[in-house]
Amino acid sequence: MERIWIAGPCAAESREQLLATAAELVEKSASAGFRLDYFRAGAWKVRSNPDSFCGAGEEALPWLCEVQETYDVPVCVEVMNARQVELCAKHGIRAVWVGARTGVNPTEVQQIADAVSGADFIVMVKNPIIPDLKLWMGNIERFLKADIRRVMAVHRGFTDAQENVYRNAPVWQIPIELKVRMPELPILCDPSHLCGNVKWIPQVAQLAMNYGFNGLMTECHLNPSQALSDADQQMTPAQWVELVTHLDLRNDTPDLSLVKQRAKLENIDNQLSELLYQRMMITDEIADIKRKNHIAVVQPQQWQQVVKRYQTHPEDVAYQEFLEKFLELLHQTSIERQR
Ligand code: PEP
Ligand code: MN
Repeated sequence: MERIWIAGPCAAESREQLLATAAELVEKSASAGFRLDYFRAGAWKVRSNPDSFCGAGEEALPWLCEVQETYDVPVCVEVMNARQVELCAKHGIRAVWVGARTGVNPTEVQQIADAVSGADFIVMVKNPIIPDLKLWMGNIERFLKADIRRVMAVHRGFTDAQENVYRNAPVWQIPIELKVRMPELPILCDPSHLCGNVKWIPQVAQLAMNYGFNGLMTECHLNPSQALSDADQQMTPAQWVELVTHLDLRNDTPDLSLVKQRAKLENIDNQLSELLYQRMMITDEIADIKRKNHIAVVQPQQWQQVVKRYQTHPEDVAYQEFLEKFLELLHQTSIERQR
């Protein structure tokens, strides 16, 4: 299976930063026996907060060009519009990615596709911030139709209103379904934006490999705590090399139907675990209110209503039997905690 390793800082901060980071990534990966396939850096950053650092902009392009020439590694940057594509082409940068925020607007994505069309670009398409496979696939198809010689997808997780340990929750069945529908398309994982914190990256990166992803796009900074953006999620070059060399890479493509079902289970388990915990926290708050107002802990009518909510599949007798045990446990636990 083809493997693609992309690494580099979140944002282009200075010429020195880019050259020094590229030097470390190239040298350390070569000594570990693998290759940095692309150096990444955001010249223009889309930031939620208007006061956040948004990259060195056009000024960074000659620096990135110098990285390409000095280290013989292609550079990729994020583009949000046709003008940025033109500037990349002018400076000899031939690999670009479409970010998760741009990905929600097909009109803008089409304008980028028109701009790269026929201009010998490599394009990486991140998933849009909303978990919509059709939107992501449509964006990818725009570049395939524009005759781009190399298109790749990047899963970086989705915006999630629920409490989540990750910055952008993964919904693995979406990229796996993409792989089923577009088997020739390389799919990478961006564990940095997905996790939001270096501590989760190794486990998420390994999961992506288990699911048959082709590689990683990882944010790396020489001095992460001093990074001007996304400090918590940037690895040092040494941590990145350690990450890649310790991945368990299976070279056979996994059975995608099995992988997809397991990914769905994982997604359900993660939510179920969090929801059960949230439910327990709410019953604790209810206990407080009851205590303050001298209300009895057990209120049979109230519990009957809870039981009714679970009667969604009365036709499934085995499920009813399970529910009976489960609800009994839930009720007992709730009463014990309230006491
Ligand atoms: C990035 O890779 O720098 C970036 C901004 O990513 P995303 O669009 O996935 O948030
Ligand atoms: Mn970033």
